[in-house]
Amino acid sequence: MQFWHKELETLPRQKLEELQLERLKKTLQKVYQKVPHYRKKIQDSAINPSEIKSINDIKKLPFTTKEDLFVDYPYGLLAIPTERAIRLHTSSGTTGKPKAIFFSKKDINNSAELIARSLVMTGATKKDILQNSMTYGLFTGALVMHYGAEKVGILVIPAGPGNTERQINLMRDFGTTMLHITPSYALYVASVIYDKGIDPKKDLKLKRAYLGAEPYSEETRRKIEEMLGIDIYNCYGLTEMNGPGVGFECIYKEGLHIWEDNFLMEVVNPETGQSVSDGEIGELVLTTLNREAMPLIRYRTRDLTRVIPEPCKCGRVHRRISRILGRSDDMFIVKGVNIFPQQIEQVLMGIKGVAQNYQIVLEAFDEMVVRVEIDRDLFDGKIEKLVRLKEEIVDKIRSNVMVKPKVELLEPGTLPISEGKAKRVIDKRTI
Ligand code: AMP
Ligand code: ZN
Repeated sequence: MQFWHKELETLPRQKLEELQLERLKKTLQKVYQKVPHYRKKIQDSAINPSEIKSINDIKKLPFTTKEDLFVDYPYGLLAIPTERAIRLHTSSGTTGKPKAIFFSKKDINNSAELIARSLVMTGATKKDILQNSMTYGLFTGALVMHYGAEKVGILVIPAGPGNTERQINLMRDFGTTMLHITPSYALYVASVIYDKGIDPKKDLKLKRAYLGAEPYSEETRRKIEEMLGIDIYNCYGLTEMNGPGVGFECIYKEGLHIWEDNFLMEVVNPETGQSVSDGEIGELVLTTLNREAMPLIRYRTRDLTRVIPEPCKCGRVHRRISRILGRSDDMFIVKGVNIFPQQIEQVLMGIKGVAQNYQIVLEAFDEMVVRVEIDRDLFDGKIEKLVRLKEEIVDKIRSNVMVKPKVELLEPGTLPISEGKAKRVIDKRTI
C-alpha cells in the first residue's frame, strides 16, 4: 500500500508547529506583497508580518470574511498573475454572487494529495473503485475528489449525482467498492437499494462511503451504515479551502483530522471573535498554509464545531474536530429558540418507522411543521401505529429542541429527492 505524506502525519507536534510557522510566515509575506487588499488589512492591524514569531501571533491579524472575497471581485485576492491560475471553482451562497476561488497547477496537485492522503488513511488502495456521485462542475466536491482518488490509482467512475437506477447499475456492473456522496442522497440511494430487494452484502461490493458537503448526524451515519453494511467516513471541506480534504476521519471514525500542515485552525466565539478553549464549541477559522493562487488568512468558515482535545487512537499528530454542528447561516429561530436542522434530523433518524426524507416548514406565528416520510409498510392500514409514531416524533423533538412541532406523516416519495446538498428548511415566515 502506498502512503501519502506518512512523514507529515506522524511527525512530532513541535515539528508540525515549526512547519506551520514557517509556512505561515511565507504566506503572510506573499499576501502582503501581492494582494493590495491584504496589505491594507495587515497595515491597519496591530502587527507586521515580520513580527510573527509564533503561530499564536496569528490572533493579532484581522479575520477574512466572505465579504472580503467580493472586494475587487473576482480577482481581488489573487496572489499570482491570472495567467498562472488554471482552474476556477465557485460556491454559491443563498444570495448574491458566488464565491470564486482560483487554483494554480500546484494548488490542484496539492488538493489532490490531501485527498489521496485522506483516502489511504481510511484503508483505500489502488484496487478500489470509487463511484463519485457528487456534482461535477463549479462545485469542488466531485473534481477535487476525482483527482485525489486518481493519484492513489483508484478507478474512478465519474457518475455525478442523480438517476438512482443508473447509480445502482453502475455499482453492480463495475463492482463499486466506495462511494462519494452527500448524506441526503446516500439516504435516498440506500432506501432505493432496500426497496428493490437488493442485498448490498451479497449483490454489491461496497465497503465504504465518504459523506460530506452538508451537516449530518451520527444517527444518519449509523442508519446508512446499517442499511448498506459499509463504513462511512466523514469528509469535510469548503470551496474557499480547496473543497474536500480539509478534514477527514480515520478508521476510528471519532471526529475529523484537520490536515494542519496545510491549514492553521482556530475555533472562535462567533460573536466576539475570541478563541474558545479546546473542547468548546465555536466557529472554525482557517488559514491556508500551502496555497499559491489564493491564500486566505483567518477565514471565517461559519461552521460550528469544537476541537477534540484528546489525541486520536491512530496516533496522528493532526488534531481532530467534531462533526460540524451546523453553519451559523443554517440556524433558524422559532419561538426564541435557536435550532439547527441537524438537531431535528438526529431525532428523526433515531426513530424506528421513520424513512429517509424530511422537511422543516416554518409557518406564520412561528409554527414549526416537520414533514416526515415514514416506512412504506406502516402505511398498510396500521392507523394505530401511526398515531403513536406521530406522538413519539412530537415528544422527542420537543424534548430535544424545546419547541413543540406540528408533525405531518407522509408516504415515501412525497417529498422532493435531494441529489446534492439538501434543502431541508422552508421558511414561509419571510415570504
Ligand atoms: P461548498 O463550499 O459549497 O463546498 O460548501 C462548504 C460547506 O459545506 C462547509 O462550509 C460546510 O458548511 C458544509 N460541509 C462540507 N462538508 C461537511 C461535512 N462533512 N459536515 C458538515 N458540513 C459540511
Ligand atoms: Zn485518527
